[in-house]
Amino acid sequence: MIPAASLAGKRVSLFGLGGSGIATARALIEGGADVLAWDDNPDSVAKAGAVGIATADLRGADWTKFSAFVLSPGVPLTHPKPHWSVELARGSGVEIIGDIELFCRERTLRAPAAPFIAITGTNGKSTTTALTAHILKSAARDTQMGGNIGRAVMTLDPPEPARHYVVECSSYQIDLAPSINPTAGVLLNLTPDHLDRHGTMQHYAAIKERLVAGSEVAIVGIDDSWCAQIADRLERAGRHVIRISKRLPLTDGYFASGTDLMEAVHGRFSRVAFLEGIGSLRGQHNAQNALAAVAACLKVGLSLGEIQSGLESFPGLAHRMEQVGRKGHVLFINDSKATNADAAAPALSSFNRIYWIAGGLAKEGGIEPLRGFFPRIAKAYLIGDAAPAFSATLGEAVPYEISGTLAAAVEHAARDAARESGGEAVVLLSPACASFDQFRNFEVRGDAFRQAANAIDGVKPIGGTR
Ligand code: ADP
Repeated sequence: MIPAASLAGKRVSLFGLGGSGIATARALIEGGADVLAWDDNPDSVAKAGAVGIATADLRGADWTKFSAFVLSPGVPLTHPKPHWSVELARGSGVEIIGDIELFCRERTLRAPAAPFIAITGTNGKSTTTALTAHILKSAARDTQMGGNIGRAVMTLDPPEPARHYVVECSSYQIDLAPSINPTAGVLLNLTPDHLDRHGTMQHYAAIKERLVAGSEVAIVGIDDSWCAQIADRLERAGRHVIRISKRLPLTDGYFASGTDLMEAVHGRFSRVAFLEGIGSLRGQHNAQNALAAVAACLKVGLSLGEIQSGLESFPGLAHRMEQVGRKGHVLFINDSKATNADAAAPALSSFNRIYWIAGGLAKEGGIEPLRGFFPRIAKAYLIGDAAPAFSATLGEAVPYEISGTLAAAVEHAARDAARESGGEAVVLLSPACASFDQFRNFEVRGDAFRQAANAIDGVKPIGGTR
C-alpha cells in the first residue's frame, strides 16, 4: 500500500466505497488523514465500516472543514449530471480528486524520478499496459502495474527511485487527476465512447489530452484525427511528442510496416522490433499497442534486445484474441471481450478462414458494420438473443447456422473447421454482443469457450488454464 502522506493531518471526505474506494480510504488513513466516507449503497458503507473506515452521510457533513474530496471514478463528475456529493464539494470550494492524483502526489513527494508510464486511449489500454509492464519485468526492472487494470493504484508498493509504475488510466480517472505528470504518457487512439459520461466528443478528447499534456514525453497514436490534432497542438506548445502510427510511414516517430516496428528519424528508417510469429500480438491494432509499449520502454532506457525478448514472451491478456487451443491446422481464439461490432473488427481482420461464433445480447447496429469482413468468414455459428437478427444481416452473404448455445457452436465450428483443407482455420469467439443473456459476464463466457474448446478430442491447450 502507498500511504497518502500528502493529506496527512487533513480532513478528507470520500465518496464511492467499491474496491478501489476502500483501498484509497485506507491509504489516506495510513498516511495520517482524517477520512469521512460514504456511498449510496448501504452494503458498501457497511463493508467500509467493518474495516475501520469512519462513515457518515456526507449530506449532513460540514464541508467547510474538508481539505479535499476524493471521488471514485465510477461516480459522475459532470455528466449526465454531477453527483450530489460533487455539488456539495463544489459549493464549498473543496478540491475534487481521485486515486491517481493521490498516487501522483506521493510519487512527487517520495521519488519524483521513479519512472511512471501512464496509458490511456479508447481501445487497447489494458493490452498496452500489460505488455509494457511485462517487457519491463522481463528486463528485470522493479515494476508495479495497476490503475484501471488489476490492482487499484494506491495498493501498489510505495514509490522508490528505481521502481517503475505502469498505470492504465480511464478518462474518468484522468478527470480526477489534475496534476498527472508521467515520465511517458501514452494516448493510443480516440473514438466516440462513454459520451453519456463526458457529454461531447470534444470534452472526452480534452480529458484524454490532459494525460499526455502533463507528460515528460507524450507518445500519441496519430491514426485518428482527434489524436493527430492533439499531437500537433502539444508540439506547438513546445512539448516533447513521439508520434506512432500502425499504418502510415512517418518522418519522425515509430510506425508499423507489416509486422516490423520501425523508427523514423528525419525520414531515415530503421527496424527496432518485430511482431512476426508472436501469436499474442496479432493484428494491426496490436501493432499500435506494441509501438506504444516500445516507445515507452525506450524512454525509460531499455535496450532493443530487452524489448524484443519481452515482446516475444508476452502471454497476452485473457479474452482478447487469446489463443486457447490448437488441433492440427485449427486454432481456437477467445475474443469474448468483443462486446460490440467495433471491438470484434480487429479479430475478424486478423484471420482469413474464420469459423465465427457470434451473438448474445445485441448492441445497436448489430453486425452491419462488420459486413466488410464477411468474405473472411467460412461459416457463422449464432448464439443467444441476437441470433435471429444476426442471421438476417448475414443473409445470403455468409453460410450460417443458429447453434443456440455456446457449447453447440464450439462443437459444430470445430467439426467444420477440421474439414477445411486450405491452411490455418480459426474457430473464433468474437461475439459482438454483451453476454448477459446466457452468461454472468464476458469473462465467464470466455472461460466457457476455453473449456469447450479444450474438451474437444485432440485439442492441445495453449497458455494453460487460468
Ligand atoms: P481497453 O483496456 O482499452 O478496453 P483492451 O486492451 O482490453 O482495451 O482491448 C479490448 C479490445 O479492444 C480487444 O479485444 C480488441 O478487440 C480491441 N483493441 C485492442 N487494442 C486496440 C487498438 N489499439 N485499437 C483498436 N482496438 C483495439
